[in-house]
Amino acid sequence: MRWTRSLIPTLRDDPADAEAISHKLMVRAGLVRQLAAGIYVYLPLGLRVIEKVNAIIRQEMNRIGGQEIEMPVLHPAEIWQQSGRWDVIGGEMFRLKDRNGRDMCLGMTHEEVIAWLAAREIRSYRDLPQIWYQIQTKERDEARPRSGVLRTREFLMKDSYTLDLDAAALEVSYNAHKDAYCRIFDRCGITYVVVQSDPGMMGGSGSHEFMAPSAAGEDDVALCDGCGYAANVELARGVPSASPASAAGKEEVATPGARTIPEVSAQLKIDPAATIKSLVFMGPDGPVLALVRGDHALHERKLARALKAEPRPAHPEEIKQHLGVAPGSVGPVGVRGARIIADESLRRGVYVVGANRDGFHLTGVTPGQDFPCEWADLQVALAGEGCPNCGKPLRIERVIEVGNIFKLGTTYSVPLGASYLDERGQQQPIVMGSYGIGPARIAAAAVEQRHDQDGIVWPWAIAPFHVHLVPVAVKDAAQMAAAEETYRELRAAGFDVLMDDREERAGVKFKDADLLGIPIRVTIGNALAKEGVVELRQRGTRADRRVPKAEVVAAVREMAQTIS
Ligand code: ATP
Ligand code: MG
Repeated sequence: MRWTRSLIPTLRDDPADAEAISHKLMVRAGLVRQLAAGIYVYLPLGLRVIEKVNAIIRQEMNRIGGQEIEMPVLHPAEIWQQSGRWDVIGGEMFRLKDRNGRDMCLGMTHEEVIAWLAAREIRSYRDLPQIWYQIQTKERDEARPRSGVLRTREFLMKDSYTLDLDAAALEVSYNAHKDAYCRIFDRCGITYVVVQSDPGMMGGSGSHEFMAPSAAGEDDVALCDGCGYAANVELARGVPSASPASAAGKEEVATPGARTIPEVSAQLKIDPAATIKSLVFMGPDGPVLALVRGDHALHERKLARALKAEPRPAHPEEIKQHLGVAPGSVGPVGVRGARIIADESLRRGVYVVGANRDGFHLTGVTPGQDFPCEWADLQVALAGEGCPNCGKPLRIERVIEVGNIFKLGTTYSVPLGASYLDERGQQQPIVMGSYGIGPARIAAAAVEQRHDQDGIVWPWAIAPFHVHLVPVAVKDAAQMAAAEETYRELRAAGFDVLMDDREERAGVKFKDADLLGIPIRVTIGNALAKEGVVELRQRGTRADRRVPKAEVVAAVREMAQTIS
């Protein structure tokens, strides 16, 4: 590709609203432009990156027996009503009506369409297993579209689905996907960890996420360097430090004006870990009092798992109405009219809790003894807590979710009637799995993980081009002739080459080359006339090499071997 005939609108300055490095650099390098909140145009270079990612995904999906199909973006409401998700999913789903007033929606994911298809096309056990996949547009009205292409409202997803006879066969399909995903992320040149995750709204019996460490991520994972334990903090359970012993007897103490845990522990001169945080939520059957230790944080997804429904924080008026007190004074002793769920760590210890009377707290309270409660894991795992498997300290890392895999089981096949006849002629539900990857997130994660102060440093496999060819003086006929020849030779050797044939100062071209982050720069300048050499520079290491012009292809090939 020649720069002068291309749309590569590089920018000197960061876009005003960008925080994530990948957002800044992908806009500045002319890869993408934002049309509206969370809606992006991919420019030629951006699309080249995505297409390279997609090609790797296709190869690895085909390798495990995946068959590519393409499903529609526009869905009839009926299939979503049959699965039950029409009512469960809230504002994230784009809904619309057709001209006849029929309910429709834009596909956020395709489990329903797959189950619909399987219900029609799969008859017998002989038709199984199947792996169907697509690389196609998803529409989601995300609550907080942000961070450039990391979280958008329209995005490309590779989604695949497995259809199997039973749970054991699903295990095989699931593991094949897990291996394929590792190969995909390895080949794309990103660093990642595989963690256990919460299946959430997908339903089903097990899932893993593929997480690329980066400050721009929106997830946290707990990792153990001792035994390899790895889980999303939505699921991770650390072994908390012991609760401090409390000598105080059971009594009501005045805590005037103290509403928060820090205020209460400061007034009473106690460790926050010797208090209980009482949080009120509205659950499926009314108010829920959720309890965690004062120094811990509650994870709403963990509470949702315990309740088997999405809770929401109660409004102050609701707290007043159901518990008769202001939020800062709520405590579990003597509560009626709310379900009480306490974090497992409160099984041991004696605590200070809200007294359900404004301006007072109760000391010497033993959970389970001084008030009845259900027990659940509610607490956000903290760095330094013990690994649940081996006890070594956990590490918490911020990550970008680049892919995930779910064992769905029969959650979709049963309501949509996707079944097969087994060897004895009995009808059985098809056992499904579902697997997603976001190509844009792979690209953005690569930028997050590999850049320097001057720009992007693309992994070889997904770089928009392999070689950035820079003739320094395009008016110099000899230089330009050498550049044209090099351009031809490199392309003939199989390299993707961008030639910067602009009439710009060398400094401008080099700056843009650094910003674009193409792995190898080949510069043809004055040294050609003087010494017959051209310069090779590796973007990542900035290692330079001067080679006779005739050897440039061999030298690029050699340098390419050292780049991953
Ligand atoms: P998240 O928790 O980040 O919202 P998700 O669990 O909703 O992700 P899935 O529905 O499982 O994600 O989608 C599969 C993959 O699609 C994700 O692993 C991610 O790579 C990508 N993806 C999901 N939502 C978005 C989005 N809004 N923008 C870009 N890529 C996305
Ligand atoms: Mg999501």
